Amino acid sequence: MAKPTRFALLSAFVAILTVFGLVTPATATRGKALDPRPSNAELTRELLALERISRGAVEVSAIGKSNQGRPVWSARVGNGPLRILYITQQHGNEPLGTPAALEFLRQTGVGKSSYNRWLRSRVTVDIVVRANPDGHEQNWRYNYDPEADPEFGQAGRGYDINRYHDPAVAPEDNPATEAGLIQRHYAAFQPHIVVDYHMQGRYVDDEGREISASLMWPTHADVAPGDVALAKQISVVAQESMTADGANVSQYPGGDYQGIARNGYGLLGSGSVLIELSNMGAEHEQAQIRSALRSMDAIARSAADGSLGTIDPAKADAIPPRGAPLP
Ligand SMILES: [Zn+2]
Repeated sequence: MAKPTRFALLSAFVAILTVFGLVTPATATRGKALDPRPSNAELTRELLALERISRGAVEVSAIGKSNQGRPVWSARVGNGPLRILYITQQHGNEPLGTPAALEFLRQTGVGKSSYNRWLRSRVTVDIVVRANPDGHEQNWRYNYDPEADPEFGQAGRGYDINRYHDPAVAPEDNPATEAGLIQRHYAAFQPHIVVDYHMQGRYVDDEGREISASLMWPTHADVAPGDVALAKQISVVAQESMTADGANVSQYPGGDYQGIARNGYGLLGSGSVLIELSNMGAEHEQAQIRSALRSMDAIARSAADGSLGTIDPAKADAIPPRGAPLP
């Protein structure tokens, strides 16, 4: 008999508690422009302000410091039994998951509606907001490590953090500082769900329509089938929520290396998903932030109400592949 996943054991419990139809989802805030690239100082100010105005419903703490001494922030909202970890901006020049995270924390943590309170009672959402503050400062992909001559990264610049989540490498031996911080944070939090937000270039689908986001579940061969299935269910929720808001979502053609967060945290027993927002230019940034926000809310909500576990994972296989790059 297959070993039940960490998520399956808990969601069976949650389903018993859930009264369907009692809650109404949050409506996404429309029209309010969000800063797509808050500076590191602004990010710190905003997180601490959220902690204050939410009266502690949003808990902010540093999981450690970057190579240049900047705090790497975790912001946690809710105290429910289902644990969800979102990660944004491992790659410093892929910013838009970060403002989506701030808005998710604001809506979920400051909101006083019955939906907000219900969600907070069902899930604990922890967000590593801007995993790579030094890379943001440099506006580059890597962390900041001029001494580095890395297997993954760029000599004289730094490591590609999203290649250093290999479960076989202990955090204290991890050459990519910020990846080691996330490994430690993961081990302490033991999330059922991990979603890692990135950005990609511009692509079209087979009909020539632009793809606004791509996603993928673990593709490493040793990830337990139950955990792959959960990641596919999460992918379907993300795809459907973003599509309802006008997005065009494809599969992401990612590799099977175990150092990629998507694979590494799948190997460790989470439902682990990568979401890549396309870099569609300044005029699309607000829509892209909102799209990421929709997915964050939908994943949390579907885990909270138990609907996530009822989704047919095979629906993820029907998400179309990513097409050609835009010229
Ligand atoms: Zn990336």
